[in-house]
Amino acid sequence: SGPVDVIEWKLVTTWPKGLPGLGAAPENFARRVNEASGGRLRIKVFGAGEIVPAFEVFDAVSRGVAEAGHGASYYWKGKIPASVFYTAVPFGMTAQEANGWLHYGGGLELWRELYAPFGVIPFAGGSTGVQMAGWFNIRLNDRTDLDGLKMRIPGLAGEVFDAAGGSAVRIAGGEVYTSMQTGVIDAVEWVGPYNDRTLGLMEVGEYYYYPGWHEPGAMLEFTVNQAAFDRLPADLQAIVEGAARATNQDTLDEFTARNNESLTTLLEEHSTKLRPLPADVMNVLHSNAVIALEELKKDDPMAQKISASYEAFLDGVRTYHEISERAYLNARDR
Ligand code: CA
Repeated sequence: SGPVDVIEWKLVTTWPKGLPGLGAAPENFARRVNEASGGRLRIKVFGAGEIVPAFEVFDAVSRGVAEAGHGASYYWKGKIPASVFYTAVPFGMTAQEANGWLHYGGGLELWRELYAPFGVIPFAGGSTGVQMAGWFNIRLNDRTDLDGLKMRIPGLAGEVFDAAGGSAVRIAGGEVYTSMQTGVIDAVEWVGPYNDRTLGLMEVGEYYYYPGWHEPGAMLEFTVNQAAFDRLPADLQAIVEGAARATNQDTLDEFTARNNESLTTLLEEHSTKLRPLPADVMNVLHSNAVIALEELKKDDPMAQKISASYEAFLDGVRTYHEISERAYLNARDR
């Protein structure tokens, strides 16, 4: 047999290079593809700013500047409003539920339809599980404390936060620490104990609020340039699909394993003050989440179509999770 053709891909990400957790997902994906293909498809991972800035990853993949990307779909909300369904819906599905919807409930097919006009194929790219509500430099007593509060909070949740009186700011991961330190923002949501600790947010935030109403099962994404994918032989296409699927689950497993130990460290070795969001604050966010979703669907046929699928799946899974997940957790921890 002749020499083996080696295909080389660039994968650009929205994360700082080398960031554990979120940034480990594309590295693990690249390693899986390289190993499974026997080196026939080699993927090199680039951090935010190395080839393109964080918020230009989607465009870079769309234009073929890079063959692949890793990030979160809600960063493209300005271009594709319905993309928010594929990261997180405030008070929406958990990671387990979202994975069910994507892979067995028609969610992924709709996602591919949404990105098709841009020549981009999406794959689920790792879930964080339920996130934390975030770091705040004021203590929240009631809903009036949200008034004028500047917070880094992306996606549909940003609209909800604005409607509740706050002011949502769009900032990439590499800049959240400095933005908190210099007072550009008063609050920040990033992920949860494991990844927030790696960014050092306990050094710039005083109160750590829970739960992550805004990102109950935040999903990351792999994006692949359609033409680059079409050029691959069928076995390499299957390897890309399989590696993305494996990495999607693996990321959730890692967050599940590491959040606990990181939370313990935050509480024992730093002066982090852990607090639940007051019921009054949660209520105003919940009512505004319903309104924000209605606004999103207005005049957007794809948002209506995806939302109908999402809501139907959630209605169904909610019924069973009431008597399984919730009933079991209550029984275990009585
Ligand atoms: Ca987040």
